[in-house]
Amino acid sequence: MTGVFHDLPGQDAVVAQLRRAAAGAAALLSGQRPEPGAMTHAWLFTGPPGSGRSVAARAFAAALLCPSGGCGECPSCHQVFAGTHADLLLVRPEGLSYGVKQTRELVLRAAGKPTGGRWQIVLFEDADRCTEQAANALLKAIEEPAPRTVWLLCAPSAEDLVPTIRSRCRVVTLVVPSSEAVAAVLTDRDGIEPARALAAARAAQGHVGRARRLALDPSAAKRRADVLRVPSSVTSLGPALSAAATLVRTAEEEAKAVTEELDEPEREALRRAFGEGSSGKGVAKAMRGMAGAMKDLEDRQKSRATRVKRDTLDQALLELAQFYRDILMLQLDADVELANDPASLRKLASSSTPEATLRRIQAIMHCRELLTLNVAPLLALEEMALSLSEG
Ligand SMILES: [Zn+2]
Repeated sequence: MTGVFHDLPGQDAVVAQLRRAAAGAAALLSGQRPEPGAMTHAWLFTGPPGSGRSVAARAFAAALLCPSGGCGECPSCHQVFAGTHADLLLVRPEGLSYGVKQTRELVLRAAGKPTGGRWQIVLFEDADRCTEQAANALLKAIEEPAPRTVWLLCAPSAEDLVPTIRSRCRVVTLVVPSSEAVAAVLTDRDGIEPARALAAARAAQGHVGRARRLALDPSAAKRRADVLRVPSSVTSLGPALSAAATLVRTAEEEAKAVTEELDEPEREALRRAFGEGSSGKGVAKAMRGMAGAMKDLEDRQKSRATRVKRDTLDQALLELAQFYRDILMLQLDADVELANDPASLRKLASSSTPEATLRRIQAIMHCRELLTLNVAPLLALEEMALSLSEG
């Protein structure tokens, strides 16, 4: 057991930085002089998707709130990881952007005193989804921090935040962990057999959560296999069009599975909060209040569903691009780690040229761009599949 920082394979520098900061924070609380520069009140966690920026932020929050500096075993640590700690505000924008009204409320709540006597922590995932006005509201709070409030922002890269906010945060940079480091975690913590762990880690290219899902969830592995059948199946117009339809359908099914799992418990929690089923004075009024809150929740769920659908399809396209990138590496005889089993690549590699492979990768990237511009998914994918089928 290595405490709260156990799930960050390959991030040794980050873990050392955060341990030092947590020690500095503890020194501050006990009135001792902390190591200079170890602790500050605003942090920005950056790193590519799946590298664990929100895991690192969560672990840091646990270390700051834990009386023993992040043991991973006390009630405080458990509450942080369950998301129920009273001094931890978890912000996860559900839609595509985070507005100014939400941010103002957040800033007010963040200024409160910590109930546990340590820190009041705001962990803001996907802080890059802040609208410009929201970022301004946030900036004020970060510029004039309450003495015991710590802001932990997460974003893919520092450039995703406005410079005024970025410059007031200490940046924590997570790196893409090696496949070996990811595989070791899957084996040690999840008991996955080493060869399977390594294959999943390679396929996920440093994305720890994705590697774990690929190794443990047969339906995730099957969806990946479906995506990777596309390159060998798009031999002409007909198969190309049907491959496009399959990709869209698969992504929709996966997104539906993900959102359904989240939606109903949220609706249930809301009903309970409003005491549905109870009777007595004021119930009718409460029920009217609930209708409004339910409508808000459903709007947020709808916008999240849109985002999950978009992310899922994009994930499939990235896997497809990675497959062609592996083919290109074989064609160029490059000495790099492949995400896919070489046996599955050789036939396609020898039957096409590096130029054709590059063109296909570009077609996939172009398709991703069209999707961000809200082109209908099926149209964009059909265009892509046709480009893939051309010799
Ligand atoms: Zn603890």
